[in-house]
Amino acid sequence: MKNELGGKGANLAEMCLLKLPVPAGLTITTECCTAYYQNNCQLPAGLMDEVHAGMKKMEELMGMKYGDPDNPMLVSCRSGARKSMPGMMDTVLNIGLCSKTIPGLINKTGDNKRFVYDSYRRLIMMYADVVMEKAEGIEPADGKGIRKQLDDMLDAYKEKQGYKSDTQLKWEELKQLAEDFKVRIKEVLGTEFPDDAEAQLEGGIKAVFKSWNGKKAVSYRRIEGIPDDWGTAVNVQTMVFGNMGETSATGVAFSRDPATGDNKFYGEWLINAQGEDVVAGIRTPNPLNNDTKNELNKKLVSMEDQMPEVYQELLGYRNQLEDHYKDMQDLEFTIQEGKLYMLQCRIGKRTGRAAVKMALDMYHDNWINEKEAVLRVPADKIIELILPVLDTNVEKQHKALAKGLPAGPGGSVGRIALSCEKAMEYKSKKIACILVREETNPEDVDGMRASNGILTARGGMTSHAALVARGWGKSCIVGCSDIHIDFEKNEVKIGDKTFKEGDIISLNGTAGAVYDVEMPLIIPDIENDPLYQEFMGYVDKYRKMGVRTNADNPKDAANAVRFGAEGIGLFRIEHMFYDEGGETPLGIMREMILSDNKEERVKVLERLEPFMKDFAKRTMKVMNGKPLTFRLMDPPLHEFVPSADETAKIKALAEERNMTEEELLKRIKDLHEVNPMMGLRGVRLGIVYPEITEMQFRALFEVTAELMKEGNDPHLEIMVPLTINVKELLHQKEIADRIQKEVEDKFGVKINYLYGTMIEIPRATLVADKIAKVAQFFSFGTNDLTQMTFGFSRDDVNKIVKEYTKEGIIPADPFNTLDQEGVGQLVKLGVERGRSERANLKCGVCGEHGGDPESVKFFYKTGLNYVSCSPFRVPVARLAAAQAAIEEERAK
Ligand code: PEP
Ligand code: MG
Repeated sequence: MKNELGGKGANLAEMCLLKLPVPAGLTITTECCTAYYQNNCQLPAGLMDEVHAGMKKMEELMGMKYGDPDNPMLVSCRSGARKSMPGMMDTVLNIGLCSKTIPGLINKTGDNKRFVYDSYRRLIMMYADVVMEKAEGIEPADGKGIRKQLDDMLDAYKEKQGYKSDTQLKWEELKQLAEDFKVRIKEVLGTEFPDDAEAQLEGGIKAVFKSWNGKKAVSYRRIEGIPDDWGTAVNVQTMVFGNMGETSATGVAFSRDPATGDNKFYGEWLINAQGEDVVAGIRTPNPLNNDTKNELNKKLVSMEDQMPEVYQELLGYRNQLEDHYKDMQDLEFTIQEGKLYMLQCRIGKRTGRAAVKMALDMYHDNWINEKEAVLRVPADKIIELILPVLDTNVEKQHKALAKGLPAGPGGSVGRIALSCEKAMEYKSKKIACILVREETNPEDVDGMRASNGILTARGGMTSHAALVARGWGKSCIVGCSDIHIDFEKNEVKIGDKTFKEGDIISLNGTAGAVYDVEMPLIIPDIENDPLYQEFMGYVDKYRKMGVRTNADNPKDAANAVRFGAEGIGLFRIEHMFYDEGGETPLGIMREMILSDNKEERVKVLERLEPFMKDFAKRTMKVMNGKPLTFRLMDPPLHEFVPSADETAKIKALAEERNMTEEELLKRIKDLHEVNPMMGLRGVRLGIVYPEITEMQFRALFEVTAELMKEGNDPHLEIMVPLTINVKELLHQKEIADRIQKEVEDKFGVKINYLYGTMIEIPRATLVADKIAKVAQFFSFGTNDLTQMTFGFSRDDVNKIVKEYTKEGIIPADPFNTLDQEGVGQLVKLGVERGRSERANLKCGVCGEHGGDPESVKFFYKTGLNYVSCSPFRVPVARLAAAQAAIEEERAK
């Protein structure tokens, strides 16, 4: 049902079946949206006739008539995609108000002119923005649109009159403002605001369709991987009014706390307001009940106290809906003159911790079983339970500069970015940043995504940005009223301190506290976290595929083991030179690269070997009893020497190497490759310089022998990178066999190890059967495999990928999410051909895709034995693998 009616439409229908008080409405299917786009942005033939027929039924149910001068019905047009996209598409409310219907509505509402003209000016503002500007694709630069101009007019008027709040505006003033708005709209947009209910309805429907391809919706879809051809449904629903006076209200609620998962009814409401006021963060909303009170709203009256009967009724619906859906619900409601209406329900977004807590609580209450509980937590979200938080010991020593609402948990530390562009610039330079904004604005998704934390001056816990940030697991504080941004000076005042853009702050998103100190982030104590432990226990119970980690030092290895890694799937030997204490071996490595004859190289390698042994041994000790796959060196050599134009570095290195600068430059020139990623790297290095391979095997075998003699249980695996055929493997194996014998004789032990290869060049997947004659295992290097299959350079393809995803030419960045259609088929082929030669061939993956949930599920289906990913992604991969196994079983 959701695919056709969209989430909102399907749930409204469901609420009607449950006999909840839902204002009558109709849903135009997502199919119509797709047809609309296929049809050159024309409404499908006959659609408006069907809408009119549906409206007739709505009129009968509600006892009102659309466009009628005496008893007018107003409607809203709301979007609703299959998957919730909070705030990313457009909505128009109060449709149907025009000079013909205004007097009737005034009459009907007991001469409530204020309400009617307030609704009218809202319609004009929304309609001009959504239908007349955005849907027409004539939206100017940020901050110059018609909505902003009308908002400014309203603010200027209020300021002139000395009004603090919209509610102080009298009806005559609202009426005049509406007239002034219409004049401005004609001036700016060149067309009249339509004074006709029918025209408004059709405009509203088209605008919602158009908003499917609006800038923010497209950005959100790219990030969330939602296909472009899904389209949105349009819900045309009778308006009910929360702004009809003191007995009217509107609100948003969650059936449980979305931040902690506690089984407490949680929400915010505003008296005499329309829905957008709660989520837009213009006014600080009141708490729904005493459980929802926080620092900012504790003095405001709750619905529980102000309207106890309506509150009890709402609470009853909350229980009914939870019982029906067996999951946490996100609810929207309106109270019109004391009568409660339910406007929306959907599965609520939640933090990772809340997702785990709710899944376990519902399991303990026998609502769902273990497998369902495992499926309930999106794999990406589990990372939030192991994410760094601010070091509490340091935090205790500092006073928070300001406090806001804890909208997204975890800690973040970074440079202040006052615009999304700045946040994206920091991100591209790999600089951690905190996006600081006046208010939460769904247009900012790209900037929010790029930042490590988000801090805003306005907005409540249910504001759009809070929902989005929480959905992504970002630490986020909203409604921090002590923030004042001065865009002219590029400064922000937080509390009583002024910061320049680029200054560092820290956020505790779990407590809502902002600090002017760069605080250390620490890893949570998962060993003593019962929620995490119990949940991951179920995960491992149903998981069938192994999970390893990519780690090249003892610290990362130990961390990954804590997170559940069952081995190391990729130890990049050359990375040890970048680790602590790596400067000396890095210097030696450079010398080796610059050596121009074998004799010299061998001498340098002899000096490098002890370092390699030391680095390898320390990590092997951590991994005692668990497999550890070392990959033979795979460095593009140019990365290790300065480029020819780095004169200062050349001079220093020449001096250090006792060479003339000319000699050094000549050597650097010799090393230069036009396409280094396709050059002397991987196994090619070991074939051109076999002495490098020899040193590595010797070091690894000796460390293994030493550890065995010291009573340890090393499980050594060695793999050859960038292989294209079996002869390369045979070539390197000959060296390995010779050295193995020498080391075994020297130490008097028998070394057992696995000899395998990476599969990262398309050719290797095609000849995988031949390669498997020698290789005892395959590890798919999907980073290079993606690079080589697409012909996209890993290092500089970002710009192209961005454009390609924007244009819908490729669905997602293939370096993040495996391209199942192309690269995935090569993986499948490689596994099949490899196992046709060696039935028990162990196959794994160690490219970045090993930590991406969708890709992990694909690897499971492809029959891989394990995935290997960075330490923090290990729990994500474990959960995704368990979900893949459960989903497979369910599909049978
Ligand atoms: C790969 O190519 O997928 C891989 C893991 O190797 P690297 O990223 O080191 O090239
Ligand atoms: Mg590679």
